[in-house]
Formats: sequence, structure tokens, C-alpha cells
Amino acid sequence: MAEVPSTAAVVVVGGGVMGASTAYHLARQGVRGVVLLERESFFGLGATGRCAGGIRHQFATDINIRLSLHSLRMLDELEAETGQPALVRKCGYLFVLTQPAEVDVFRRNLARQHALGVPTEWLSGDEVRQKLPLARFPDALAGSYYSQDGLADPNSVVMGYVNAARRLGVTCLTDTAVTGLETAGGRITGVQTPHGSIATPIVVNAAGPWSAPLAAMAGVDLPVVPLRRQWLTTTPLPVIPPDFPFVIDFAQSLYFHREGEGLLTGMSNPNQAPGFDQSVDLEWELVHLEAAAQRLPLLERAGVVSRWAGLYEVTPDAHPILGHTPLEGFYVITGFSGHGFMHGPIGGLLMAEIITEGQARTVDVSSLALSRFAEHKEIAEYNVV
Ligand SMILES: Cc1cc2nc3c(=O)[nH]c(=O)nc-3n(C[C@H](O)[C@H](O)[C@H](O)COP(=O)(O)OP(=O)(O)OC[C@H]3O[C@@H](n4cnc5c(N)ncnc54)[C@H](O)[C@@H]3O)c2cc1C
Repeated sequence: MAEVPSTAAVVVVGGGVMGASTAYHLARQGVRGVVLLERESFFGLGATGRCAGGIRHQFATDINIRLSLHSLRMLDELEAETGQPALVRKCGYLFVLTQPAEVDVFRRNLARQHALGVPTEWLSGDEVRQKLPLARFPDALAGSYYSQDGLADPNSVVMGYVNAARRLGVTCLTDTAVTGLETAGGRITGVQTPHGSIATPIVVNAAGPWSAPLAAMAGVDLPVVPLRRQWLTTTPLPVIPPDFPFVIDFAQSLYFHREGEGLLTGMSNPNQAPGFDQSVDLEWELVHLEAAAQRLPLLERAGVVSRWAGLYEVTPDAHPILGHTPLEGFYVITGFSGHGFMHGPIGGLLMAEIITEGQARTVDVSSLALSRFAEHKEIAEYNVV
């Protein structure tokens, strides 16, 4: 194992997509002496490695749509940038709407998306049924579909950034937990690890679902709650066509997409209590599978190949927290609330801009400041599942 350096210009804590992207972009912007610390034995074993890989432009707020416009382009360009392809598969994303109230909200969302240059298509209930002949959606009222949404590979993205960061001189260490944060006179001065302390004027909290306990080590209160979510993959289902989209039954927070020869399907438990438990809830899996088989009867013929649970890092308004904290030199990039994988590339770039230039240049993220919660300026978001 590489040695922990005694000093650093910047220490990034957390080796998921946010930390890897931040470390890379800092180095890309010319910062020397960047250290990335991950407590697990591999990078990307937290939320990033347990995510469903969905990437989409279809959001309900301008800020999220703008983040997607940049981030999905960065995923397309990841190979040119880092040498590692993101394995993007544009199979399209189809939100199926079964409640009248959803229809109104999604119509407004579509107008927002169009205004920002995302040509999402509006489908009638019959068009939804035609698009999904294998599924059972007698109650579909409408659908929202964009062909350029789809999937990418989380591990490739994390390792693309980690390896490129290393080539630019970043010290990227696994098996190195941050166990304490050092402060003096209202600013951050260092991090403690079991292998030694690092003196540094800048620490980036990229600890995802664990970002609140990390911030608490420095006395900073972060409103980020871990919430368990889970999915499973099935045995091969050859009847599923290669162009089968990422389908979301919005009212039930139920989704499925093609994964290898079979399907990946997940459903959010609305009664899930916050906590750090990452074991699969088998009782909820039964509820989920029953709902999934109602929509896609061919699932009755499938077996389960793998099952995973992970943690969303959820904020009160389901939007990220990006930027400064009241503690000088202590920055946060967290709280992406279920869609952080896709926003990892742009998130890291913006974090690096905030550190090196004082504010983000590529996208105005002032609305994502931590201070919004104290100032009661939360953002309203609807389509997060
Ligand atoms: C089941 C599931 C499905 C999802 N599906 C999607 C999807 O389809 N599309 C999408 O865009 N997003 C999805 N997400 C959300 C996405 O995975 C997260 O928003 C994103 O991965 C967060 O990245 P992160 O780097 O902030 O967190 P993480 O990937 O969790 O990284 C944080 C890292 O910090 C490390 N760490 C924590 N504390 C310390 C410490 N004290 N010292 C050192 N290291 C520490 C952890 O080990 C971890 O590796 C999903 C999430 C889950 C759980």
C-alpha cells in the first residue's frame, strides 16, 4: 500500500464517482498535491458501484436538466478524455404515467426540457402500449420518452477518472479511512487516518451516503440521509429486444431495463427507514417482484441471478449540495438523491472550478449551496424514483 503523505494541497474523501471526478478535474486544472482517500479496498464500492447505471435528461428542474446536458456529453467523451469508455448505451428512458396528477406535472417537465434543448417525446397511453408490447400497462395515460437517455457503466467511469487522475500525479489510496478532521480558527487544517495525518488547507467531502457523519467530525451539519434502495437481475430472457428502453412505472417507483441477456429491475420502498444497512430486504423483494411481474408477465419465467442493495444520499429537496460550508476550506459534493452517478462527471468538474476559481463557471450552481436549507430556499423536484 502506498504511504499516506504528510501534507496535501487538497484531500478528497471518498472514492466513488464524485470523489474520483473531483480529484481528476482538480489535477486537470493544474492543482498539484491532490490526494484521494477511499476506506474500502477498491474504488467505487459505495453507492456508485451499487447503482442501476441509468443516465437521463428527463428531470423536473432546470438545474438538473443542465447538469445532465453537460454530464451525459462528458460520459460520451470519457474515452477521449481518460482512455476509458463509459460504455454508454442509449436505449431511451420511458416514464409511464398512470395518474392524472403525474400527467400534468410531466407535461410541465417536458416544456422545461424542450426549453433547454432536450427534445423529449410525449406519448399517449396507446403509444406507450405499442412501444412496450411485452408489458402490461392497461392503465397508462401517457408517457415521456427520450431516445438519448439510457445507461452507462459506473465502474468504468470511476476507474476512468481514478486512472487518469493518477497519470496527472494524484495520490489515490484505498484502505484509508478518514477517522478525524482537524480544524483551527474556523478553518480545516487536516485529516486523520489510521496510517497517519495529512495537513491540508482544503478537504472535499465526497463521502456520498456517509457524508453527514464525515462532516460531523468537523462540527458541520449536513442534511444528507442514507436511504436503502435495491435491485436484482434475472436469468436470460431472449424475447426482450436489444432496443428495450429503461422503463419507469412512475406511480410505483418501479423500473426495469435490459441487463446482459436478462433484465435489471428495482422498486423503491416508500416506507424505507433511513439507515446505513446495505443488506437486501427480501420481504420488499417479494413485493417488488409481484409488482414487476404484473407489469412484465414474462418475469414469472425468470430466475434471480444477483441482488444488490445500496444507499441513496438524500437531501430534503432531493437536490445535491455542492460548494462551501461554514468551515473555511471544507467543501461538499454530495446529496445527489438517487441520480448522482449520471451527474458525477459534471459534479467533479464544478467542484474543481469552485475550489480553483472561487465559483463554478460551466454551470451556475449557486442554487445548490448548503446555505439554501437555512435560508429556506429549497428546490422543488418531482421525478426522482
Ligand atoms: C440502488 C441504487 C440505484 C441507483 N441508480 C442510479 C441510477 O440509475 N443513475 C444514477 O445516476 N444514480 C443512481 N444511484 C445514485 C448514485 O449511485 C449515487 O448518487 C452516486 O453514486 C453517489 O456517488 P458518491 O461518489 O457521492 O457516493 P459513493 O459512491 O457512495 O462514494 C462515497 C465513498 O466514500 C467512501 N467513504 C465514506 N466515508 C469515508 C471515510 N470516512 N473515509 C474514506 N472514505 C469514505 C465510501 O466507502 C464510498 O466509496 C443509485 C443508487 C442506488 C443505491
